[in-house]
Amino acid sequence: MQTNFLIIGSGISGLNFALHAAKKGEVILVTKKKLIDSNTNYAQGGIAAVLDKTDSPVQHIKDTLEAGAYHNNKKAVEFMVKNSPEAIYRLIDLGVAFEKENEKLKLTQEGGHHHKRIAYVGDYTGQEIERILVKRVKEHVNITILENTFALNLLTKDHTCFGAQIIRKNKIDNIFADQTILATGGLGQVFSNTTNPAIATGDGLSMAYRSGAKIEDIEFIQFHPSALAKKTSPRFLISETVRGEGAHLINNKGERFMNDRHPLKELAPRSIVAREIFKELKKGPVYLDITHQPKEFLKKRFPKIFEKLSKYGIDMSKNLIPITPAAHYSCGGIKTDIYGQTNIKNLFAFGEVACTGVHGANRLASNSLLEALVFSNQITKKLKAQKKLQVLTIDRLKILPKNSPETILAKKLHKEIQTLMWQYAGITRNREQIEKIAIPRLQEILKKLTQIQGTNQILAETINIAQAGLLILKAADLRKKSLGCHYIE
Ligand SMILES: Cc1cc2nc3c(=O)[nH]c(=O)nc-3n(C[C@H](O)[C@H](O)[C@H](O)COP(=O)(O)OP(=O)(O)OC[C@H]3O[C@@H](n4cnc5c(N)ncnc54)[C@H](O)[C@@H]3O)c2cc1C
Repeated sequence: MQTNFLIIGSGISGLNFALHAAKKGEVILVTKKKLIDSNTNYAQGGIAAVLDKTDSPVQHIKDTLEAGAYHNNKKAVEFMVKNSPEAIYRLIDLGVAFEKENEKLKLTQEGGHHHKRIAYVGDYTGQEIERILVKRVKEHVNITILENTFALNLLTKDHTCFGAQIIRKNKIDNIFADQTILATGGLGQVFSNTTNPAIATGDGLSMAYRSGAKIEDIEFIQFHPSALAKKTSPRFLISETVRGEGAHLINNKGERFMNDRHPLKELAPRSIVAREIFKELKKGPVYLDITHQPKEFLKKRFPKIFEKLSKYGIDMSKNLIPITPAAHYSCGGIKTDIYGQTNIKNLFAFGEVACTGVHGANRLASNSLLEALVFSNQITKKLKAQKKLQVLTIDRLKILPKNSPETILAKKLHKEIQTLMWQYAGITRNREQIEKIAIPRLQEILKKLTQIQGTNQILAETINIAQAGLLILKAADLRKKSLGCHYIE
């Protein structure tokens, strides 16, 4: 197969980009499950932007830099914030119906923000954005959608990308493209506790790294403070907007412990809240308490969360909600400029897989959907459909059956990697243990996996989480001081 633009991933960044690229040429969009299977579809809280007269870009920039521990690329932050209103209006034009009050957008607040600036749709903002973008992409004649198509490797030669090798219908194939776009999202599944769905195995990051792409800030993994403390995979998220609407954090003694830990209390930056909860969890369970809000308000404001909690016998207007932190967001990734260009010619990346530098050492809540949208809007200015590229000769790989001993081994190692990463690269880290225990073991696992002859999706995803894990551990080892969400004991 050949195309002008090969897009890998169908979250907000891949879909939004596809709509732009389709105006310039033919697009093939591949995604490893169904179109809607993405982190985007899980986003609850909303999307940040300066939309209110009493707010200002200066304040949004300040909040973003403060959350990022001033490790951010200030120019990229300014660029993102400046383009934030336009990005929201684009979504509205495409059909996203954000909440309104008296004809004006209704805005809410989340941790680290000093102003109400989050546009939202109930507690299912991502699902609504995904629904609309999928609809628009399906309508476009220039976009060919390939679901259940797994991108295995990038096709690169002399630091230039020519497309990707894919697994589709149990066969390996190549898609050649003038420009290849990685929109593969995050890597939460590297950890045993995560809010990210099963697709988030760091494939784009690992593929790009294997092809020589620069990776930046990958030690900065954000742990969300409030996932539901019930054994589910992924862990169900209790959005920060619940705290934005006044929920208190309560320890096992019934104390509101954030009162004396940060001036913003429950709405302090995520890394701080997550660490304080983690400390309290060593003494006993931690809860969110929003019982002071009326049932009708909670049902209307948080319909999905209310319904999900009810399934666990928790009425959030009467009962405390047990919570725990979980791996949530990768602040770093493949280094790109503001047009998504990586250091490999004709290879672009954006969304969670990319590192534009806007998040610094820690992401400000609701800035990730914004980043994905703003940068995938800009990139088109650089895009040109080119003449078709010559076809490379690619090694043929054998597909391993799902019940082969190699696949069974990969599944076992998958679990071991997740547990190891949670233990050694989780909320608090210890460099000696990372050097002496975690890195050597993960190197051993990666070697074992890459020596296997043949491939399939299960094995490839396990190699990818091992590779992503190793990148995180090595970067964490090099960063000798705590910063943002990288916290050394
Ligand atoms: C529970 C939850 C709540 C969140 N809430 C918010 C919020 O309120 N506000 C906010 O700003 N952010 C939020 N986030 C973060 C935000 O949702 C993500 O950062 C953002 O959606 C990422 O978009 P993306 O387009 O980069 O990737 P994704 O939406 O994750 O899409 C990645 C796509 O790539 C595909 N893919 C991956 N690997 C391959 C492969 N090898 N081959 C083919 N396809 C592949 C996947 O199947 C998927 O379609 C939340 C995240 C989670 C998990």
